[in-house]
Amino acid sequence: MTDTPPRRYVIGRWDPLTVGVDIGGTKVLAGVVDSSGRVLERQRRHTPGTSVRDVENTIVDLVLELGRSHDIAAVGVGAAGFVDVTRSVVKFSPHLAWRDEPLRDAVMSRVRVPVVVDNDANAAALAECRFGAGRQHRLVLCITLGTGIGGALVIDSRVFRGANGMAGEFGHIQVVPDGHRCECGNRGCWEQYASGNALVRDARELVLAGSPLAHRLDELVGGDVAALTGPLVTQAAREGDPLAVQLIGEIGAWLGVGLAGMAAAFDPGCIIVGGGVSEAGELLLAPARSEFSRTLTGRGYRREPPILAAELGPDAGFIGAADMARSAARRARRMKRRRRERPLRRRRSVLPEA
Ligand SMILES: [Zn+2]
Repeated sequence: MTDTPPRRYVIGRWDPLTVGVDIGGTKVLAGVVDSSGRVLERQRRHTPGTSVRDVENTIVDLVLELGRSHDIAAVGVGAAGFVDVTRSVVKFSPHLAWRDEPLRDAVMSRVRVPVVVDNDANAAALAECRFGAGRQHRLVLCITLGTGIGGALVIDSRVFRGANGMAGEFGHIQVVPDGHRCECGNRGCWEQYASGNALVRDARELVLAGSPLAHRLDELVGGDVAALTGPLVTQAAREGDPLAVQLIGEIGAWLGVGLAGMAAAFDPGCIIVGGGVSEAGELLLAPARSEFSRTLTGRGYRREPPILAAELGPDAGFIGAADMARSAARRARRMKRRRRERPLRRRRSVLPEA
C-alpha cells in the first residue's frame, strides 16, 4: 500500500453546491463551496453570544441568504465540542450553551435540505486532506493549534471518529506526569505545553516576574500583562525579539515531542499543522521537526512523515463542513432513488410470468 491516494474518476457523478458553516467562539464563517473545494461566496458574522436559539438563527439566516443566489443541496455545520457519532447532536460545546443539543434536526426543519454537524477540527482536517496540504496522501494526521490542541486522523478522505465520535482529542494525552493542571481535570496534558494558552501563560509569567528578557513584550502591552496574547508574541518573534522566538521555539519543541508519539501510534503519511498558533510558521515548525526527528521511534529505519503548514487558513472549517454536506446530499439522493425504485420492483415481482 502506498501513501498516494487512488485517483477516483466517477463519471457523471452528481456534484451539487453545498454550504459550510463554521461556528467559532467569536465569529461564524459560512460559504458556498463546489466539489473541487472552490469557495463561490463567503459570509462572516459575529457569534451572537452563547444562546442556543440565537446561534441556530444565525446559521439559518446565513444558509437562507447564501441560498438566494445559489442552488444548495445540503448544509454542513462545524462547531467546537463533542458531536455524537451520528453527527446530529452536539453533546457539549465549550464556548456555546449547547448541552445535548439536537442541532442537525433543528436546522434541517428550517432549511429543508440535508444537514450534518461535526466537530470543527474534523471539518478543517477533512478540507486540508481533500483540497489543501494533505491532498497527496491517504493517511493524514491533522493538528489544530489554537488555545488548545484539536485534530483528526483522516484515512482515505474519511475522518476517523472512534466509537463515540470523540476521537481526535489529542491535546489531552499526558506528556508530563504531574505537570500543569488542565481544564479536563488531569495534569500534564500535551496542550498545556504546545498551544496558544501555553504560549501566553509562559509569556505572561516572565512579564509579571519583571524579567529583563521580557522588556519588548512588556512594552507591546504597555505594562498591562492581561493584554498579552498569542498573536502579539508571534508579532514580537517575527520582529526578532529573542524571548518571543525562544517561547515559540519551546512550544514547537513540545509540538514535535507529541507528534512523535502520535506518529509512533498511527504512522501517518504526512502531518499538517494548522490553527491560529501555526501563523508563527517556521518559528514553530522548524523546532517541531527537529524534536520530532530526534524522538521518533524507529528513526533511521523509516520514511519520516513531512510536517507541513496547513494551506487553507481560516476557511478550512467551513470548506470541510461543506464537503461533509456534499456526501450527505449524495447519500440522501441515493436513498430517495432506492425508495422510488422499491415499489416498482415489488410490482414487477407480482406480474404473471410470460
Ligand atoms: Zn487535559
